[in-house]
Amino acid sequence: MSQSKYVFVTGGVTSSLGKGIISASLAKLIQSRGLKTTIQKFDPYINVDPGTLNPYEHGECFVTEDGAETDLDLGHYERFLNVKTSQKNNVTTGRIYQSVINKERRGEFLGKTVQVVPHITNEIKDRIKALGETGDFDVVITEIGGTVGDIESLPYIEAVRQLRWELGKENCIVVHLTLVPYLSAAAELKTKPTQHSVKTLMESGIIADVLVCRTEHQLSDDIKKKIALFCNVKSEAVIQSIDAESIYDVPLMMYEEGLDRVVLKMLSLPDNLEPDLSKWKDFLRKLKNPKKSIKIGLVGKYVELQDSYKSILESLIHAGAANEVKVNVDSIHSEELTNENCKTRLQNIDGLLVAPGFGNRGIEGKISAIKYVRENKIPFFGICLGMQMAVIEYSRNILGLKKANSTEMDIDTEFPVIDLMENQKEIINKGGTMRLGAWDCKIEPNSRASVIYNASEISERHRHRYELNNKYLKKLKSNGLNISGVNTKTGLAEIIEIKNHPWFIGVQFHPEYKSTVLNPHPLFKSFIKACCN
Ligand code: GLN
Repeated sequence: MSQSKYVFVTGGVTSSLGKGIISASLAKLIQSRGLKTTIQKFDPYINVDPGTLNPYEHGECFVTEDGAETDLDLGHYERFLNVKTSQKNNVTTGRIYQSVINKERRGEFLGKTVQVVPHITNEIKDRIKALGETGDFDVVITEIGGTVGDIESLPYIEAVRQLRWELGKENCIVVHLTLVPYLSAAAELKTKPTQHSVKTLMESGIIADVLVCRTEHQLSDDIKKKIALFCNVKSEAVIQSIDAESIYDVPLMMYEEGLDRVVLKMLSLPDNLEPDLSKWKDFLRKLKNPKKSIKIGLVGKYVELQDSYKSILESLIHAGAANEVKVNVDSIHSEELTNENCKTRLQNIDGLLVAPGFGNRGIEGKISAIKYVRENKIPFFGICLGMQMAVIEYSRNILGLKKANSTEMDIDTEFPVIDLMENQKEIINKGGTMRLGAWDCKIEPNSRASVIYNASEISERHRHRYELNNKYLKKLKSNGLNISGVNTKTGLAEIIEIKNHPWFIGVQFHPEYKSTVLNPHPLFKSFIKACCN
């Protein structure tokens, strides 16, 4: 394959303009034209990865097949492209510096002063080119986190400037996202913030090639011409990005605006093949024409922040579309629930999903909710901590082990039905040390899981330290809790289910990381189907 082409996506004016969705949409359009593409995200913070960050700070932590704990935008990339990402697709400032400092200690720069330019910028450029050099991609899209002008993003912007110089404009372009605000008092859209952010980019030596303008109102041709004139771009390269009903509308909106055409033209890539978006449109048609609607209770302790359970919410959307139903999510704070109020709080839901999580806060509420849906035969789906809480609930209320618990919550518990994994006991460091990434799991024939997956062996992604304590396996099984998925190497319980219940499944892994628009996850699909009945 010839040289990969590079597209950099930067942001100006404010954060939260949706760089991730624009990058994913552009990639989707390029992919639909038969070209191979991938997306990479640079995060300017000093954490080596977001694994140690609280969801309130950062939203969900997305896990890749190779066990990288990454930014949630990688989830969007996978969901849009239906292609897996890896550690290479997410790099933080912390990781860049760690790597440069390790090289310095090994003596790789012996005799030299190690500096931001060129050592840090070289490291950044190497990470960008590493994806291009795999030969797997025609186009590598790199999203630079943060907003231009931030101190933290400067080394990345400088690396982009250097790379543009080295590779030439025909191989390397910059798409800059800005905001065109509407001032209601003046009844006008304002272009000045866009002009300023383009100027800020120019101060770092970069002229944006394409401007994607986020707006709440249609941009007239005159406004587009004005932006083009003031910002050194062609008017066809001023792309309107108006607020969308769903993130999944954005690829089609970008197609209408011609974003992919202008990018391909600038990169001298073929733009004559029309993108094949038939499957995508099919998904949108189902998403927008539901035959009925259902309500899912999502119990977690970070529900105030939508981003905390991003992949779960998106998986529910995919599964809803597959079943042609609208899934309304009722976010329920786990601390709000007690044995007494579950009946009133949960009486209107069609199914309950108990979310992953860490630590003690809110777990009794989760256990109460699970007891309620188990007894009242309401579909239940427990993910990771949600599955562990189901085991505790079952142990307490069916096995009669009243004080059953996880050693994560009570280190001295009399009945540690959930316990720290053996190989975790020696680990002291917190970053990147959980059981992470894809692991194989064997499914018991004739179980509900085997019907759902229609497979005897599966692979799913993980992120946990604790596990079902196999000392209690026999007792749980003989009392009706079936272990229908087991890791063959470690004997670790991966899937639990109850037979005499419409749908009661807990999984130690995170199926939400693998659901995509074109491949909704079978567990989510089946769960939603059960909730419709
Ligand atoms: N805290 C639990 C563990 O570490 C569950 C983790 C999770 O839900 N991702 O095992």
